[in-house]
Amino acid sequence: MKILIIGAGAAGIEAAVTLSKLGYEITLLEKESQTNTNLRNKMLLFPDFSEAERLVKEFDRKLFEEVITPYYNTEVVGLEQKKTIWIATDANQTTYQADAVLIATGYTPFDATRKEEYGYGIYNGVITSLDLEEMFRKNNITNAFGETPKKVCFLQCVGSRDEKSGNNYCSKICCITAVKQAIELKKISPKTEIYIFYMDLRMWGQGYEELYREAQEQYGIYFIRGRISEAAATFDGKIQIKSEDTLMGLPLRMTPDLLVLMTGMEPSKGTKLLASCCNCEEEYGFFKTINPIFADQKTSHAGLFAAGTCKRPMSIPDVLADARAAAVDIDEYLKNS
Ligand SMILES: Cc1cc2nc3c(=O)[nH]c(=O)nc-3n(C[C@H](O)[C@H](O)[C@H](O)COP(=O)(O)OP(=O)(O)OC[C@H]3O[C@@H](n4cnc5c(N)ncnc54)[C@H](O)[C@@H]3O)c2cc1C
Ligand code: SF4
Repeated sequence: MKILIIGAGAAGIEAAVTLSKLGYEITLLEKESQTNTNLRNKMLLFPDFSEAERLVKEFDRKLFEEVITPYYNTEVVGLEQKKTIWIATDANQTTYQADAVLIATGYTPFDATRKEEYGYGIYNGVITSLDLEEMFRKNNITNAFGETPKKVCFLQCVGSRDEKSGNNYCSKICCITAVKQAIELKKISPKTEIYIFYMDLRMWGQGYEELYREAQEQYGIYFIRGRISEAAATFDGKIQIKSEDTLMGLPLRMTPDLLVLMTGMEPSKGTKLLASCCNCEEEYGFFKTINPIFADQKTSHAGLFAAGTCKRPMSIPDVLADARAAAVDIDEYLKNS
């Protein structure tokens, strides 16, 4: 029996490999020219500082072993069910048929230019967490003048837990990402002062709380409870930020060399499109499943399943567990149909 998997990120690949081992014929469709675009732009991963590149290679090795070759540059733009057969259509109007479909179209990082008050794209010293990852990957952490930054501020919850952006949800990964990046920065440049501005710190995963303590006790990273209201450029090319330390009840001004915006996750364009085309859209445009506890991989349509960050923000270990759970449900569905 045939299974169509849309999206060759962590979720799509893990499910593809699991289902292939169970003997199913897999068609894996990917809109980009490579797998795992959302992992290739990272250097080290939380919580254990393992290399993202190694993980990407491991995923590609697993696909190779199962003789699954993704169809690259294949963006699915339509999906419909005719009797028991699912038909996906790509941007070139080519169609693909299968007995079951797994949506694994993932997320897109929040676009920081939407938060104009922080000046992303306007002031050179304002960057996102992904820009910082790029600097780590190039081994080139510099301010606007090409110098090692003396003071760096991180701002949490940019585009998440934010009514103005329309995203009331927590993106789950950005608190621990800030802690991880701050530690990485301290290891490279121990003299750089680092301040993390937060609303609350959500260290929900195993080992995260310990890493947060380590950041304070071993690396001397400062955590300030308060939002930054705005950022502006100073005449000497630094960034001036205005904030309030809500624990101390004090207004605060600082002039860091870099302001790092911790942008969260939004549904990808493909996730939004397919969720809407299947009437499975939840309030933020992620894919809606039947029940988040008992049937989190099943949708309201027979034979249509969803896994990974197309449903909500998740870390990689959660995505992998979710993808395997989806594979079990798909196997059960196909055995009974
Ligand atoms: C700044 C940041 C740092 C992070 N750091 C970590 C970390 O250190 N550790 C950790 O555990 N997690 C981390 N994460 C989370 C991690 O990136 C995700 O958990 C993981 O990449 C999600 O995998 P996925 O397969 O669900 O989605 P994605 O990786 O988004 O994969 C979806 C795939 O579907 C494809 N696609 C989309 N639409 C279509 C379409 N219409 N047709 C065909 N293909 C399509 C995409 O091109 C993509 O390849 C981080 C996230 C962010 C934002
Ligand atoms: S994980 Fe932290 S930074 Fe990200 S949205 Fe949640 S509380 Fe904000």
